[in-house]
Amino acid sequence: MCGIIGYIGLCPEQNLLNGLKKLEYRGYDSAGMTVRREGRFETYKEVGQVQNLAGTVVYKEEFGIGIAHTRWATHGKISIENTHPHFSVSGEVALVHNGIIENFEELKEKNKDVTYLGQTDSEVVAKMFESLSINSLRKVLKKLVGSYALALLSKEGDYLYFAKNKSPLYIAKGKECAVIASDPSCFSGLCENYYQLDDGDYGKISLKNIVIYNKNHKIVEKTPQKLDFNYLSEDKSGYEHFMIKEIYQSRLALENIIEKYSHSEMKENLSKIKNYNFDRVYLVGCGTAYHAGLIGEHYLRENINIDAYCLVASEFKDSNLLVDNNSLCIFISQSGETADSISALEYCKEKGAKIISITNVEYSTIAKMSDINLPIFAGQERAVASTKAYFAMCAVLFILSNYLKGQNYILPLKTLSHKIDFGNDISLKKLAKTLAVYKNLFFIGRGVDYVTALEASLKLKEITYIFSSALPSGELKHGSLALIDSNLPCLIIATDERQFAKTLNNASEIKSRGGKLILFTSLFVEKDVEENFDYIIKITPLPRDLMPMQIILSLQKLAYFTSLEKGNDPDKPRNLAKSVTVE
Ligand code: GLU
Repeated sequence: MCGIIGYIGLCPEQNLLNGLKKLEYRGYDSAGMTVRREGRFETYKEVGQVQNLAGTVVYKEEFGIGIAHTRWATHGKISIENTHPHFSVSGEVALVHNGIIENFEELKEKNKDVTYLGQTDSEVVAKMFESLSINSLRKVLKKLVGSYALALLSKEGDYLYFAKNKSPLYIAKGKECAVIASDPSCFSGLCENYYQLDDGDYGKISLKNIVIYNKNHKIVEKTPQKLDFNYLSEDKSGYEHFMIKEIYQSRLALENIIEKYSHSEMKENLSKIKNYNFDRVYLVGCGTAYHAGLIGEHYLRENINIDAYCLVASEFKDSNLLVDNNSLCIFISQSGETADSISALEYCKEKGAKIISITNVEYSTIAKMSDINLPIFAGQERAVASTKAYFAMCAVLFILSNYLKGQNYILPLKTLSHKIDFGNDISLKKLAKTLAVYKNLFFIGRGVDYVTALEASLKLKEITYIFSSALPSGELKHGSLALIDSNLPCLIIATDERQFAKTLNNASEIKSRGGKLILFTSLFVEKDVEENFDYIIKITPLPRDLMPMQIILSLQKLAYFTSLEKGNDPDKPRNLAKSVTVE
């Protein structure tokens, strides 16, 4: 999930670094850069975040050509020797790579005489180059199995070389610069249009021209795309972290969704879905997107009375479910580049299923591979822990299920927008202070509240590193209750009146065993019941179907405040990266 960038033009060090900062969400184990000056490479490498690299680079204002990388390690430890760029044996060619070369051990075996400095698959590719040209690139690519976005530079020539397979890559030319990057956000301030590369594409770019070959080795002309400045998120707009800014941007995402889904283009997409013949629906996603899918499963089952199943993408192919041309498969992914989801999507396509995607990036691989894309219009998400995208995915799934039932979806979403509740900061901060000292936590809920419990638990794990587990309230007594004591708080989520009495019984079972109880609810709580709880966080009530979106906001903020209490960086949790482009 690393981020790569290549740049030709003035101030290469500064521009490469600006790009790396925008790509840092893709990984921050280490960062490196190579710039060519008068036929010599100047290389900088640092372990940790891009800011560590920024402090060591010598910035020059003259013209130059360079490549840079921010790493999320897949093969080989986090170390200087495994930090990209990697070099050919002669040191003439420098390479940065995003992806996994699956046959790297085999390739290494064939090149026994070569000494490798580290353990990465990427270095094996670099060592396969003797010189850099379209022919040498073609020869190396032929031998690679796996996923890659590559940018390459040699000690001579005007060109940067590139190649793409199953990892995203974009190229662009500005007035006085040429850029290659994993994400078009790197082009902002430099170029207005960009080209999206397809799998199998490779080629070269200079200040004067771009040459792109496709997988059949034919030169191709690509259609330029305009950079979407509305989508980009450049700064924290006065907030301390991107995460808290993005939680508050849920309202903006909702307004965008209401606007876009009131107009004909999105309505046409919805009506096409209604006209499909399908007798079952699969929702597929990973992590937070999987949880949004579970909310969608509830919406679809309740509203259109259809068999809807939500599955984790990496498990989909092995679950032997019946997928055929009567299946509607909905793929949910913030980036639209999630490798596990792409692989499941390819499988469903082969089986003849209709493919719908719900993504935040309209030009992404998943959006392009699907029959219909339903965008979530949330704008770029920079914090690794997804917040506004989850909220917006639920809103789009709400729209889809209501539309299929023939029900108005705009009015309820407008109600949500008017009554949206981001929680009381004083109470949430107080609770965060209490939770930060615990090592373990349970989240419980029933029905759709159990799904919210899953997502709240994941958010807490991601950024606080507190172990937490989410359980259906009724399941506790079937085993996990054995863990309850005064050191294990239990956070109960209750928004569904129909389940409340039973949930309160489960709360009593915990209380009797000395457990600490926290209640997040939109329901009326009797005075004597209130006394059972150590904390109660009240959320503004809304119709039942809207509550998953309403209540998650406070739970996201609770995770955020707890992360701050623990002294963590909520935007860049350890071991994680956004946009998981490896399986
Ligand atoms: N496999 C390469 C490494 O570990 C690239 C990782 C990635 O793109 O996530 O350095």
